[in-house]
Amino acid sequence: MARYIFITGGVVSSLGKGLMAASLAALLQARGFRVRIRKFDPYLNVDPGTMSPYQHGEVYVTDDGAETDLDLGHYERFTGVSARQSDNVTQGRVYQTIIQRERRGDYLGATVQVIPHVTDEIKAFALADSDDLDFVLCEIGGTVGDIESLPFMEAIRQLHNDLGRNRSIFVHVTLVPYIAAAGELKTKPTQHSVRELTSLGIQPDILLCRCEHPLPESERRKIALFCNVRPEAVIPALDASSIYAVPTQYHAEGLDDEVLRAFGIENAPAPRLDRWHDIMDRQQNPEGEVTIGVVGKYVGLPDAYKSLYEALTHGGFANRVKVNIKWLDAELFEEEGADIAARLEPMHGILVPGGFGVRGSEGKIASVKFARERNVPFFGICLGMQMACIEGARNTAGIANASTTEFGETSEPVVGLITEWMSKEGLQKRTAETDLGGTMRLGAYPAKLTGNSVVAGIYDATDISERHRHRYEVNAGYREPLEKGGLIFSGMSPDGTLPEIVERPDHPWFVGVQFHPELKSKPFDPHPLFASFIEAAVKQSRLV
Ligand code: GLN
Repeated sequence: MARYIFITGGVVSSLGKGLMAASLAALLQARGFRVRIRKFDPYLNVDPGTMSPYQHGEVYVTDDGAETDLDLGHYERFTGVSARQSDNVTQGRVYQTIIQRERRGDYLGATVQVIPHVTDEIKAFALADSDDLDFVLCEIGGTVGDIESLPFMEAIRQLHNDLGRNRSIFVHVTLVPYIAAAGELKTKPTQHSVRELTSLGIQPDILLCRCEHPLPESERRKIALFCNVRPEAVIPALDASSIYAVPTQYHAEGLDDEVLRAFGIENAPAPRLDRWHDIMDRQQNPEGEVTIGVVGKYVGLPDAYKSLYEALTHGGFANRVKVNIKWLDAELFEEEGADIAARLEPMHGILVPGGFGVRGSEGKIASVKFARERNVPFFGICLGMQMACIEGARNTAGIANASTTEFGETSEPVVGLITEWMSKEGLQKRTAETDLGGTMRLGAYPAKLTGNSVVAGIYDATDISERHRHRYEVNAGYREPLEKGGLIFSGMSPDGTLPEIVERPDHPWFVGVQFHPELKSKPFDPHPLFASFIEAAVKQSRLV
């Protein structure tokens, strides 16, 4: 039966608990253990699907079609284990489930309460689907002391009792700030945070102390003494040069050893870290660099494009180059007299990412035109593919009014609402009135690629499966004029109705995909489309 590692955070948010969980899981996996990571989010949204990327960062989509927290992206990138719907639960979903049950009368007249009903539901979520695992890591979102995370704290406290001491441990991530005026690291916030945690009945086994300066042995002992943990279990976690350096850094500080010790596991094999050393070697010793311009809407908050950023970096690993990403606000391209060429000429590749709504769309379409005309490698993802089709329709197929119904009524709906598609659950139907939450075409769907196409060469396959998150689709009825204009439909849904990939074979590299390949890229297994796009950008960099 699986052992459980509960991960909480204290002092401040944004300490990188998700990365910590992902790195610890990677270290345990490197020792041969089977791992899975779960995230508990205390907010009341049922899932992050309807939340603004500005507020919450990217929505990470799983194979089974769940819209989840972006930390699940880290989990998957670091362990290679595909995340599932059952790996992310929000308080909103917990309450939704309970209230639906209450309305059905399932509680047989009982008063429905936070303890035990909400806590039981959280416990059931933590325990589900874990038979074939050695470790389940559960990350609790938020910071200790938040009102909304209390039911989760209570649930993991109970679970620790239910499971027994050698089946579960608590890791608490805290901050040890450096006060420049005093020239000292301060342990008091950590002491307070642990006191808060113990007042909830949770005694941490391991403290992971985020700090900007090395933690002196004296401070380590002080934290140990006040927080009732062994000095060796106070793990300093200095800021790392790259997120991919974190697993080896935590290993050097003894994190995985302490975790195994806390469980009483002796003689575990040493971790095989070659994969992480290779990634670091590629990152630290690049043989060149390229600059990619990402023309999008949420460019002020890089977390909004988290997986995209990582996938481009992985494409760099594959080619042993550093990828510089320039986030370009599409709206600026729409201003009177905007010199688009001047902004895009320094780019070795142009990428238009996924997005929603009309804002900035003309700027995106203008970037596609620039890339097409100037033979600059172009990658369009989801909305980016749709923009490439509209650009192709307007400028190479003579359909001047080409648009998408997402932006309002149009006489030439080159992109329109998907009203019907086949999923594993059967025929899906949607109308313009359908709810916004959880109703897009979501998750993994297969596609068939044309045998001699550019993309079939890149994938080295004609049957692929990729993750989707869209409500609109390119209208296959426009295939003929678009193909006459050089934009070839080289990937379709297996029934031939939904365009999945378009490409321009007469261009150095021009590919648009309806899905999100960035979600499946791993540092140790870069996605072929990103590896190929960066390869094309390297060629471009030699030309300019
Ligand atoms: N807004 C577009 C759609 O819903 C594209 C979505 C996306 O880029 N994820 O189809």
